[in-house]
Amino acid sequence: MEANIRESIAGGKKLGIMGGTFDPIHYGHMVAAETARIEFGLDRVLFIPTGSPPHKENRLVSDANLRYEMVEMSIQSNKDFMVSRMEIDREGTTYTVDTLRIIHNIFPQQDLYFITGTDALKEMLTWHEHEEIIRLAKIIGVSRPGYDSKNMIEKISQKYPFTKKRIAQIEIPALAISSTDIRMRVANDKPIRYLLPDEVRLFIKNKGLYNQESVRKTPFSSE
Ligand code: ATP
Ligand code: MG
Repeated sequence: MEANIRESIAGGKKLGIMGGTFDPIHYGHMVAAETARIEFGLDRVLFIPTGSPPHKENRLVSDANLRYEMVEMSIQSNKDFMVSRMEIDREGTTYTVDTLRIIHNIFPQQDLYFITGTDALKEMLTWHEHEEIIRLAKIIGVSRPGYDSKNMIEKISQKYPFTKKRIAQIEIPALAISSTDIRMRVANDKPIRYLLPDEVRLFIKNKGLYNQESVRKTPFSSE
């Protein structure tokens, strides 16, 4: 992890971790992180864009540096938000559990809170070393429109009783925004303004990201 980030996290007690592909980052991610930060009294939230995400190997993910840059410009005005290159600079498939281990080893005294939307929470039991993930970090499941997760915590804690006190769910202002939808909108010349920070919208435009050409290469296109 970058030395300057280590330094600014070091003084705290509670660290939020917001993992994601962020292709691109949007207001759903930012509201999730900020609401979790306030509700759980987290000192900082560290955004960690994925390198080569194990769940997304079936589609082309944008260049990691571009995804990182979009996160960086989005969080500039929030002094409690930070972004790390730790996953994108790691070789091969990046697993959340490895990231959490590294962070835990750097800050053994801190409580780690992994922030995740209910769609990802639902998938969590399929993740590599998921038990260990829940041991290393408390989980904050944030509501996401379209994904009901009412029985999720029960389900997980039935299988793993120790997780009962380690997973919490919170309601956040509902934003039915997804990166997939944003990519499709760009490809189809539909507006994305107000779904994500304006700097990111302009960056996407200037770099020609998600234009029809690049989206056409991906399996989710109708072609
Ligand atoms: P994609 O459509 O490419 O999967 P995404 O919008 O789901 O993109 P991710 O980078 O996959 O974004 O998500 C990172 C994390 O943010 C996940 O835990 C996800 O559940 C959460 N998240 C994303 N969008 C929202 C939203 N609108 N509300 C709440 N949580 C969200
Ligand atoms: Mg997603």
